[in-house]
Amino acid sequence: LMQLSIPLNFIGFVYREIRQGLTDIEQMFDLLQVEAEVVDCPDAKPLASGPGAIAFNNVHFAYDPERPILKGVSFEVPAGKTVAIVGPSGAGKSTISRLLYRFYDVQQGSVTIDGQDVREVTQQSLRSVIGMVPQDTVLFNDTIAYNIRYGRPAASAEEVKAAADIAQIGTFITHLPEGFETKVGERGLKLSGGEKQRVAIARTVLKGPPILILDEATSALDTTTEHEIQSALDIVSKNRTTLVIAHRLSTVINADEIIVLRAGEIAERGTHTALIEQGGLYASMWNRQREATQAEEHLRQVREND
Ligand code: ATP
Repeated sequence: LMQLSIPLNFIGFVYREIRQGLTDIEQMFDLLQVEAEVVDCPDAKPLASGPGAIAFNNVHFAYDPERPILKGVSFEVPAGKTVAIVGPSGAGKSTISRLLYRFYDVQQGSVTIDGQDVREVTQQSLRSVIGMVPQDTVLFNDTIAYNIRYGRPAASAEEVKAAADIAQIGTFITHLPEGFETKVGERGLKLSGGEKQRVAIARTVLKGPPILILDEATSALDTTTEHEIQSALDIVSKNRTTLVIAHRLSTVINADEIIVLRAGEIAERGTHTALIEQGGLYASMWNRQREATQAEEHLRQVREND
Protein backbone atom coordinates (compact mmCIF):
# COMPACT_ATOMS: atom_id res chain seq x y z
CA LEU A 1 0.00 0.00 0.00
CA MET A 2 2.86 2.35 0.89
CA GLN A 3 4.39 1.77 -2.50
CA LEU A 4 1.20 2.74 -4.22
CA SER A 5 0.30 5.72 -2.08
CA ILE A 6 3.58 7.57 -2.59
CA PRO A 7 3.33 7.90 -6.36
CA LEU A 8 -0.34 8.76 -6.06
CA ASN A 9 0.47 11.50 -3.59
CA PHE A 10 3.22 12.65 -5.82
CA ILE A 11 0.91 12.83 -8.81
CA GLY A 12 -1.55 14.77 -6.68
CA PHE A 13 1.21 17.16 -5.68
CA VAL A 14 2.35 17.70 -9.26
CA TYR A 15 -1.21 18.15 -10.42
CA ARG A 16 -1.90 20.76 -7.75
CA GLU A 17 1.30 22.58 -8.61
CA ILE A 18 0.45 22.71 -12.28
CA ARG A 19 -3.11 23.62 -11.53
CA GLN A 20 -2.03 26.60 -9.50
CA GLY A 21 -0.02 27.93 -12.38
CA LEU A 22 -2.62 27.27 -15.00
CA THR A 23 -6.26 27.66 -14.15
CA ASP A 24 -7.41 26.07 -17.34
CA ILE A 25 -5.48 22.83 -17.01
CA GLU A 26 -8.60 20.72 -17.45
CA GLN A 27 -9.45 22.59 -20.59
CA MET A 28 -5.87 22.23 -21.82
CA PHE A 29 -6.01 18.46 -21.35
CA ASP A 30 -9.33 18.48 -23.12
CA LEU A 31 -7.90 20.39 -26.05
CA LEU A 32 -4.77 18.25 -26.26
CA GLN A 33 -6.90 15.15 -26.27
CA VAL A 34 -9.22 16.31 -29.00
CA GLU A 35 -6.51 17.97 -31.05
CA ALA A 36 -4.79 14.64 -31.35
CA GLU A 37 -7.86 13.44 -33.26
CA VAL A 38 -7.25 15.69 -36.22
CA VAL A 39 -4.07 16.50 -38.09
CA ASP A 40 -3.39 18.73 -41.10
CA CYS A 41 -3.55 16.77 -44.34
CA PRO A 42 -0.17 16.59 -46.13
CA ASP A 43 -1.10 19.16 -48.76
CA ALA A 44 -3.13 21.42 -46.45
CA LYS A 45 -3.21 25.03 -47.61
CA PRO A 46 -4.10 28.09 -45.61
CA LEU A 47 -7.80 28.94 -45.80
CA ALA A 48 -8.23 31.47 -48.60
CA SER A 49 -9.77 34.54 -47.08
CA GLY A 50 -13.33 35.24 -48.12
CA PRO A 51 -16.54 36.67 -46.70
CA GLY A 52 -16.88 33.77 -44.22
CA ALA A 53 -19.90 31.75 -45.39
CA ILE A 54 -20.37 28.49 -43.47
CA ALA A 55 -22.03 25.34 -44.79
CA PHE A 56 -22.79 21.99 -43.16
CA ASN A 57 -23.53 19.50 -45.93
CA ASN A 58 -25.28 16.28 -44.88
CA VAL A 59 -23.05 15.95 -41.81
CA HIS A 60 -22.97 12.64 -39.96
CA PHE A 61 -20.95 12.44 -36.79
CA ALA A 62 -20.47 10.15 -33.78
CA TYR A 63 -17.93 10.34 -30.93
CA ASP A 64 -18.42 6.63 -30.54
CA PRO A 65 -19.40 4.58 -33.64
CA GLU A 66 -22.16 2.86 -31.67
CA ARG A 67 -23.93 6.12 -30.98
CA PRO A 68 -24.60 8.54 -33.83
CA ILE A 69 -24.90 12.15 -32.63
CA LEU A 70 -25.53 14.09 -35.88
CA LYS A 71 -27.54 12.28 -38.55
CA GLY A 72 -27.43 14.15 -41.83
CA VAL A 73 -27.42 17.81 -40.79
CA SER A 74 -27.41 20.45 -43.55
CA PHE A 75 -27.60 24.20 -43.11
CA GLU A 76 -25.85 27.36 -44.18
CA VAL A 77 -24.82 30.51 -42.42
CA PRO A 78 -24.50 33.13 -45.18
CA ALA A 79 -21.65 35.60 -44.74
CA GLY A 80 -22.49 38.21 -42.12
CA LYS A 81 -25.69 36.48 -40.98
CA THR A 82 -26.60 34.90 -37.64
CA VAL A 83 -27.91 31.37 -37.28
CA ALA A 84 -28.91 29.98 -33.89
CA ILE A 85 -28.99 26.31 -33.00
CA VAL A 86 -31.51 25.39 -30.31
CA GLY A 87 -32.88 22.11 -29.07
CA PRO A 88 -33.13 19.82 -26.06
CA SER A 89 -30.07 18.99 -23.96
CA GLY A 90 -27.87 16.40 -25.67
CA ALA A 91 -29.33 17.08 -29.13
CA GLY A 92 -25.83 17.77 -30.53
CA LYS A 93 -25.74 21.59 -30.51
CA SER A 94 -22.25 22.08 -29.09
CA THR A 95 -21.00 19.23 -31.28
CA ILE A 96 -21.79 21.43 -34.29
CA SER A 97 -19.48 24.16 -33.00
CA ARG A 98 -16.72 21.61 -32.35
CA LEU A 99 -16.96 20.35 -35.93
CA LEU A 100 -16.72 23.86 -37.33
CA TYR A 101 -13.60 24.52 -35.25
CA ARG A 102 -12.43 21.08 -36.39
CA PHE A 103 -11.82 19.56 -32.99
CA TYR A 104 -13.22 16.45 -34.68
CA ASP A 105 -13.75 15.35 -38.26
CA VAL A 106 -17.14 14.45 -39.70
CA GLN A 107 -17.68 10.83 -40.71
CA GLN A 108 -19.85 11.67 -43.70
CA GLY A 109 -20.65 14.89 -45.50
CA SER A 110 -18.58 18.04 -45.08
CA VAL A 111 -18.19 21.35 -43.31
CA THR A 112 -17.03 24.21 -45.50
CA ILE A 113 -16.05 27.85 -45.12
CA ASP A 114 -16.38 29.83 -48.35
CA GLY A 115 -16.58 26.51 -50.16
CA GLN A 116 -13.33 25.15 -48.67
CA ASP A 117 -13.56 21.88 -46.74
CA VAL A 118 -12.21 22.45 -43.22
CA ARG A 119 -10.32 19.13 -43.51
CA GLU A 120 -8.27 20.47 -46.42
CA VAL A 121 -6.96 23.68 -44.86
CA THR A 122 -4.38 24.19 -42.12
CA GLN A 123 -5.84 24.18 -38.63
CA GLN A 124 -3.89 27.30 -37.78
CA SER A 125 -5.50 29.29 -40.63
CA LEU A 126 -8.94 27.85 -39.84
CA ARG A 127 -8.77 28.86 -36.19
CA SER A 128 -7.43 32.30 -36.98
CA VAL A 129 -10.69 33.24 -38.72
CA ILE A 130 -12.96 31.92 -35.96
CA GLY A 131 -13.60 33.59 -32.63
CA MET A 132 -15.07 31.31 -30.00
CA VAL A 133 -16.91 32.58 -26.94
CA PRO A 134 -17.21 29.35 -24.95
CA GLN A 135 -19.81 28.34 -22.33
CA ASP A 136 -17.39 28.66 -19.47
CA THR A 137 -14.49 30.98 -19.93
CA VAL A 138 -11.49 30.03 -17.92
CA LEU A 139 -9.39 33.01 -16.91
CA PHE A 140 -5.64 33.00 -16.49
CA ASN A 141 -4.26 33.91 -13.07
CA ASP A 142 -3.17 37.29 -14.31
CA THR A 143 -4.56 40.80 -14.77
CA ILE A 144 -7.83 41.56 -16.56
CA ALA A 145 -5.80 43.40 -19.20
CA TYR A 146 -3.73 40.26 -19.83
CA ASN A 147 -6.86 38.16 -20.10
CA ILE A 148 -8.40 40.47 -22.70
CA ARG A 149 -5.15 41.09 -24.60
CA TYR A 150 -4.82 37.33 -25.06
CA GLY A 151 -7.11 37.82 -28.08
CA ARG A 152 -4.35 39.87 -29.80
CA PRO A 153 -1.16 40.16 -27.78
CA ALA A 154 0.07 43.20 -29.74
CA ALA A 155 -3.00 45.30 -28.85
CA SER A 156 -2.41 48.64 -27.12
CA ALA A 157 -3.90 49.60 -23.76
CA GLU A 158 -6.42 51.83 -25.57
CA GLU A 159 -7.52 48.96 -27.79
CA VAL A 160 -7.94 46.71 -24.75
CA LYS A 161 -10.10 49.33 -23.10
CA ALA A 162 -12.17 49.92 -26.24
CA ALA A 163 -12.79 46.15 -26.52
CA ALA A 164 -13.89 46.04 -22.88
CA ASP A 165 -16.31 48.90 -23.55
CA ILE A 166 -17.83 47.13 -26.53
CA ALA A 167 -18.22 44.01 -24.39
CA GLN A 168 -20.06 46.16 -21.78
CA ILE A 169 -17.53 45.46 -19.05
CA GLY A 170 -15.35 48.59 -19.33
CA THR A 171 -17.16 50.55 -16.61
CA PHE A 172 -17.12 47.59 -14.23
CA ILE A 173 -13.35 47.24 -14.70
CA THR A 174 -12.50 50.93 -14.28
CA HIS A 175 -14.36 50.92 -10.96
CA LEU A 176 -12.16 48.15 -9.55
CA PRO A 177 -9.44 49.45 -7.19
CA GLU A 178 -6.68 48.43 -9.59
CA GLY A 179 -8.69 48.80 -12.79
CA PHE A 180 -7.32 46.81 -15.70
CA GLU A 181 -4.37 45.73 -13.56
CA THR A 182 -6.65 43.83 -11.17
CA LYS A 183 -5.59 40.21 -10.84
CA VAL A 184 -8.34 37.71 -11.66
CA GLY A 185 -8.66 33.95 -11.81
CA GLU A 186 -8.43 31.40 -9.03
CA ARG A 187 -5.93 33.40 -7.00
CA GLY A 188 -7.34 36.82 -7.79
CA LEU A 189 -10.72 38.45 -8.00
CA LYS A 190 -13.41 35.91 -8.76
CA LEU A 191 -15.68 37.08 -11.53
CA SER A 192 -19.27 35.94 -12.00
CA GLY A 193 -20.28 33.80 -14.96
CA GLY A 194 -21.68 36.83 -16.78
CA GLU A 195 -18.55 38.91 -16.13
CA LYS A 196 -16.29 36.13 -17.35
CA GLN A 197 -18.37 35.80 -20.47
CA ARG A 198 -17.96 39.51 -21.15
CA VAL A 199 -14.19 39.22 -20.71
CA ALA A 200 -14.34 36.46 -23.34
CA ILE A 201 -16.36 38.73 -25.60
CA ALA A 202 -13.79 41.52 -25.17
CA ARG A 203 -11.03 39.04 -26.09
CA THR A 204 -12.93 38.12 -29.25
CA VAL A 205 -13.54 41.77 -30.12
CA LEU A 206 -9.76 42.32 -30.02
CA LYS A 207 -9.14 39.27 -32.17
CA GLY A 208 -11.69 40.59 -34.69
CA PRO A 209 -12.38 37.36 -36.61
CA PRO A 210 -14.86 37.21 -39.53
CA ILE A 211 -16.60 34.19 -37.97
CA LEU A 212 -17.97 33.93 -34.46
CA ILE A 213 -19.14 30.93 -32.48
CA LEU A 214 -21.07 31.81 -29.36
CA ASP A 215 -21.68 28.88 -27.08
CA GLU A 216 -24.01 30.26 -24.45
CA ALA A 217 -23.72 29.37 -20.82
CA THR A 218 -26.36 26.88 -19.75
CA SER A 219 -26.69 28.51 -16.37
CA ALA A 220 -29.40 31.09 -15.93
CA LEU A 221 -28.28 34.69 -15.72
CA ASP A 222 -30.36 37.42 -14.16
CA THR A 223 -32.33 39.52 -16.63
CA THR A 224 -30.09 42.60 -16.42
CA THR A 225 -26.89 40.63 -17.01
CA GLU A 226 -28.56 38.77 -19.82
CA HIS A 227 -29.56 42.05 -21.50
CA GLU A 228 -26.04 43.45 -21.09
CA ILE A 229 -24.48 40.37 -22.61
CA GLN A 230 -27.04 40.36 -25.37
CA SER A 231 -26.32 43.94 -26.36
CA ALA A 232 -22.57 43.20 -26.30
CA LEU A 233 -23.13 40.22 -28.57
CA ASP A 234 -25.35 42.21 -30.91
CA ILE A 235 -22.53 44.70 -31.45
CA VAL A 236 -19.87 42.03 -31.84
CA SER A 237 -21.83 39.85 -34.23
CA LYS A 238 -22.83 42.70 -36.49
CA ASN A 239 -21.46 42.05 -40.01
CA ARG A 240 -19.82 38.85 -38.80
CA THR A 241 -20.93 35.34 -39.70
CA THR A 242 -22.27 34.12 -36.37
CA LEU A 243 -23.27 30.69 -35.14
CA VAL A 244 -25.02 30.83 -31.78
CA ILE A 245 -25.35 27.66 -29.75
CA ALA A 246 -28.30 28.78 -27.67
CA HIS A 247 -29.33 27.32 -24.37
CA ARG A 248 -31.54 30.27 -23.51
CA LEU A 249 -34.12 31.12 -26.14
CA SER A 250 -34.27 34.83 -25.36
CA THR A 251 -31.02 35.35 -27.25
CA VAL A 252 -32.20 33.90 -30.56
CA ILE A 253 -35.21 36.08 -31.36
CA ASN A 254 -33.24 38.22 -33.80
CA ALA A 255 -31.33 35.42 -35.52
CA ASP A 256 -31.72 35.30 -39.31
CA GLU A 257 -32.52 31.62 -38.99
CA ILE A 258 -33.16 29.29 -36.06
CA ILE A 259 -32.35 25.61 -36.45
CA VAL A 260 -34.16 23.32 -34.03
CA LEU A 261 -32.09 20.21 -33.47
CA ARG A 262 -33.65 17.11 -31.96
CA ALA A 263 -31.70 13.88 -31.44
CA GLY A 264 -29.15 14.85 -34.09
CA GLU A 265 -31.62 15.86 -36.78
CA ILE A 266 -33.10 19.17 -37.84
CA ALA A 267 -36.69 19.07 -36.62
CA GLU A 268 -37.70 22.64 -37.52
CA ARG A 269 -36.12 25.73 -39.00
CA GLY A 270 -37.17 29.30 -39.60
CA THR A 271 -37.35 32.70 -37.97
CA HIS A 272 -38.64 33.15 -34.43
CA THR A 273 -42.01 34.45 -35.62
CA ALA A 274 -42.48 31.67 -38.16
CA LEU A 275 -41.58 28.97 -35.65
CA ILE A 276 -43.91 30.36 -33.00
CA GLU A 277 -46.73 30.39 -35.54
CA GLN A 278 -45.90 26.83 -36.50
CA GLY A 279 -46.70 25.80 -32.91
CA GLY A 280 -44.23 22.89 -32.85
CA LEU A 281 -41.22 21.97 -30.73
CA TYR A 282 -39.74 25.49 -30.75
CA ALA A 283 -43.04 27.04 -29.70
CA SER A 284 -43.42 24.64 -26.79
CA MET A 285 -39.78 25.15 -25.69
CA TRP A 286 -40.38 28.88 -25.85
CA ASN A 287 -43.51 28.73 -23.72
CA ARG A 288 -41.88 26.51 -21.14
CA GLN A 289 -38.85 28.75 -20.87
CA ARG A 290 -40.93 31.88 -20.59
CA GLU A 291 -42.89 30.39 -17.71
CA ALA A 292 -39.66 29.34 -16.00
CA THR A 293 -38.18 32.83 -16.40
CA GLN A 294 -41.31 34.46 -15.04
CA ALA A 295 -41.28 32.15 -12.03
CA GLU A 296 -37.61 32.94 -11.39
CA GLU A 297 -38.14 36.68 -11.67
CA HIS A 298 -41.09 36.43 -9.32
CA LEU A 299 -38.97 34.54 -6.76
CA ARG A 300 -36.22 37.11 -7.05
CA GLN A 301 -38.65 39.95 -6.40
CA VAL A 302 -40.13 38.18 -3.39
CA ARG A 303 -36.61 37.68 -2.00
CA GLU A 304 -35.67 41.31 -2.65
CA ASN A 305 -38.78 42.54 -0.86
CA ASP A 306 -38.02 40.44 2.22
P1 ATP B 1 -26.56 20.75 -23.95
O1 ATP B 1 -27.68 21.65 -24.32
O2 ATP B 1 -26.91 19.90 -22.79
O3 ATP B 1 -25.23 21.42 -23.81
P2 ATP B 1 -25.93 19.79 -26.64
O4 ATP B 1 -27.10 19.73 -27.53
O5 ATP B 1 -24.97 20.92 -26.82
O6 ATP B 1 -26.42 19.67 -25.14
P3 ATP B 1 -23.65 18.08 -27.22
O7 ATP B 1 -22.69 18.67 -26.25
O8 ATP B 1 -23.45 18.39 -28.66
O9 ATP B 1 -25.16 18.40 -26.81
O10 ATP B 1 -23.63 16.51 -27.01
C1 ATP B 1 -24.43 15.62 -27.78
C2 ATP B 1 -24.21 14.21 -27.25
O11 ATP B 1 -22.86 13.81 -27.48
C3 ATP B 1 -24.48 14.06 -25.78
O12 ATP B 1 -25.26 12.92 -25.57
C4 ATP B 1 -23.12 13.90 -25.17
O13 ATP B 1 -23.16 12.99 -24.10
C5 ATP B 1 -22.28 13.33 -26.28
N1 ATP B 1 -20.91 13.80 -26.19
C6 ATP B 1 -20.51 15.10 -26.12
N2 ATP B 1 -19.18 15.20 -26.09
C7 ATP B 1 -18.69 13.94 -26.12
C8 ATP B 1 -17.38 13.35 -26.11
N3 ATP B 1 -16.28 14.12 -26.05
N4 ATP B 1 -17.29 12.01 -26.14
C9 ATP B 1 -18.39 11.24 -26.19
N5 ATP B 1 -19.66 11.70 -26.22
C10 ATP B 1 -19.82 13.03 -26.18
